[in-house]
Amino acid sequence: MISPVDGAGIGVVPGCSVEDVDAAVSRAAAAFETWRHVAPGDRGRLLRRFAAQVDAHLEELALLEVRNAGHTIGNARWEAGNVRDVLDYYAGAPERLTGHQIPVPGGLDVTFHEPLGVVGVIVPWNFPMPIAGWGFAPALAAGNTVVLKPAELTPLTALRLADLARDAGLPDGVFTVLPGRGSVVGERFVTHPAVRKICFTGSTEVGTRIMAGCAAQVKRVTLELGGKSANIVFADADLEKAAATAPYAVFDNAGQDCCARSRILVQRRVYDRFLELLEPAVRAFRVENPARESAEMGPLISAAHRDRVAGYVDGADVAFTGSCPDGPGFWYAPTVLLAGSPADRHWREEVFGPVVSVLPFDDEADAIRLANDTEYGLSGSIWTRDVGRAVRVARAVESGNLSVNSHSSVRYWTPFGGMKRSGLGRELGPDALHAFTDVKNVFIGTEE
Ligand code: NAP
Ligand code: MG
Repeated sequence: MISPVDGAGIGVVPGCSVEDVDAAVSRAAAAFETWRHVAPGDRGRLLRRFAAQVDAHLEELALLEVRNAGHTIGNARWEAGNVRDVLDYYAGAPERLTGHQIPVPGGLDVTFHEPLGVVGVIVPWNFPMPIAGWGFAPALAAGNTVVLKPAELTPLTALRLADLARDAGLPDGVFTVLPGRGSVVGERFVTHPAVRKICFTGSTEVGTRIMAGCAAQVKRVTLELGGKSANIVFADADLEKAAATAPYAVFDNAGQDCCARSRILVQRRVYDRFLELLEPAVRAFRVENPARESAEMGPLISAAHRDRVAGYVDGADVAFTGSCPDGPGFWYAPTVLLAGSPADRHWREEVFGPVVSVLPFDDEADAIRLANDTEYGLSGSIWTRDVGRAVRVARAVESGNLSVNSHSSVRYWTPFGGMKRSGLGRELGPDALHAFTDVKNVFIGTEE
């Protein structure tokens, strides 16, 4: 493991082999037979205890993420708190996992939400804690057992969460973290017949392969993939607020966020004014040692990733940039690019770094057409004071999570997920539990 802040080594985590995975899946399959029958109130109580353990170790988890992933301390605290909140939220689910009673002649018809068995959760490096929790918390609440593979670059917080689950009293085999390579551990989750569902977050490229692999066994799959989300600014918007908040909507977590609003569409009439307002906001963005309380952005995850990000900026039309520390660490300054046309590579592809592209549009129809001219559909923002337009555009943009006069995407109690190639299925919110169960219908004849 390497700290992105200064490039220093911070320890070695040995990767699991296929044999290790097979042994863990066997234990998880055995544990499932007990866990599924734990009384709903007791299952909820154990998850609440797990949440309390996370809460008690929040600062430790946050500092671990600052070191391992280079997240700002403010973000990392939010991320650990999000794991606690997601656990608490789904801890209320076991007693509420009710089915239907459907009127039928000659008997009684009832439905059950049966757990699937062992669920494999595969997590990327950009938000190691929250994305793990969005998978394991509802999966466990619904009565499944979980094997989880963190990203190779960022396994430390997931391993610590596994300790905390054990300390909270979760039985052996119910929640197991298996660090290692995607091509070894992740692929074995897909091919192992006892793993009944894959919950994957990561690139569209790997997600597409995982879906194909799952098809061979008709294995359930949830995919949270890439994004190229639009921030649409109409001329009638509160331009000051739209410009002041736009950097946070894309440079947060150094742009390594699937929800990053990395395409800013500005109505032509206010295009120049918007850029004038955006420039000081970008220059003031605080990129510094992420352990500092004042940090708004830290480094990128790795040297290789920084090279990849820089490749999008080479030869592009740079409007202005912010600043970043020099010296060791994988730093990259916030960068604003002017798109010459929607064909520009930086306009079309997910950069996954602190780079945003700006393009003018003429009218509402043009804005919708440009926003939808992408294979992705994860999030987006709409800035206007016209309520009718806000609703029309929100309905027309093909994206799973939209916000009006705001950039929020994620609340643990509202659904989250992508349209088009941004994903399949929804996480969080009241319905996520159903993604970890199958409906069973039972008819009981009552005729004598
Ligand atoms: P990635 O390369 O797709 O990796 C994601 C996870 O899959 C990692 O744990 C990786 O393991 C594993 N993996 C790699 N190859 C695999 C295989 N053949 N079979 C099974 N698992 C495999 O993505 P990343 O580079 O870590 O993350 C960046 C991407 O994630 C971006 O495209 C971003 O948009 C997307 N993302 C989406 C969301 C969302 O909610 N929609 C959230 C966060 C990130 P290794 O680490 O060992 O390679
Ligand atoms: Mg990768």
